[in-house]
Amino acid sequence: MGTRLRSVGGIVGMFTLMATSVVAQPPDTPLTQEEMFRRNVGSREEQVTPFPPHKIVGNLYYVGSYSLSAFLVATPEGHMLINTNWERAVDGLKTSVEALGFAFDDIEVILGSHAHGDHMEGDALVAQMTGARVMAMAADVPALERMRPGDKPHPIDRVLHDGATVTLGGTTLTARLTPGHTKGCTTWTMRIEEDGEVHDVAIIGSMGSNPNFQFVNNPDNPTIADEFKQGFRVLRSLSPDVPLGSHPAMYGMADKYERIGRGPNPFIDPDGYRQEVDAVETLFRAVLERQEAESAAAGRP
Ligand SMILES: [Zn+2]
Repeated sequence: MGTRLRSVGGIVGMFTLMATSVVAQPPDTPLTQEEMFRRNVGSREEQVTPFPPHKIVGNLYYVGSYSLSAFLVATPEGHMLINTNWERAVDGLKTSVEALGFAFDDIEVILGSHAHGDHMEGDALVAQMTGARVMAMAADVPALERMRPGDKPHPIDRVLHDGATVTLGGTTLTARLTPGHTKGCTTWTMRIEEDGEVHDVAIIGSMGSNPNFQFVNNPDNPTIADEFKQGFRVLRSLSPDVPLGSHPAMYGMADKYERIGRGPNPFIDPDGYRQEVDAVETLFRAVLERQEAESAAAGRP
């Protein structure tokens, strides 16, 4: 958190710092829902300002903003893009892809973390600009169909299910359904080679317990708590050595970026994966317990 704010700098960072007091807490103090949410989504400006694009490992690159991740898997047969983010940030996304020496037009496949506008609103525009095919998890399709920036229909060229694979130019991505945050929230996994070593990469779709989430007696989604539990079971079954996430704060990106070239690849961080899953699951369990207690209290005569 502190590092991200420092690297963003300026008055916005200062105000966020004063407003949250997250930094003053010891690192093992669990974040509240509000703090976790703010840690992830950042300010309006951080959501659209491109972070310096960089290589993560092998043919996997970061092309997102300060608080919303987008990843490019570059292959000789074209590229796969994971997350288009807000439509208003697509120009910045294009600039980042080109700054790495790739043609935006060579994006062949568009994938996403989950059906919220901050990650997938730009799908229609990027598909229009590049001719890429959009692939999305079945359970997120209804939410995506309601996402219509400028009244453009959300393109969906292939519907995916848990375990589906997407292959292009020798790289295969696997879609794992990690529901809860949305019905079709997707954690992408892949094996990426660098310097003769194979790395297991996981891009966590999000297990965030947003401040407005209702886990108990939720008439719109009665099974939401069970979906979260299923999502955590899937994440616990993975053991990536390169953990990533739909928000860069999920894997301490800004801090790792500073360490590029100063030793071993900083993005190789198996402990970081477990710590992040622990942090989001601890928060989920605490919120669920509180809401269950509140519901029981409200039900008493
Ligand atoms: Zn979200």
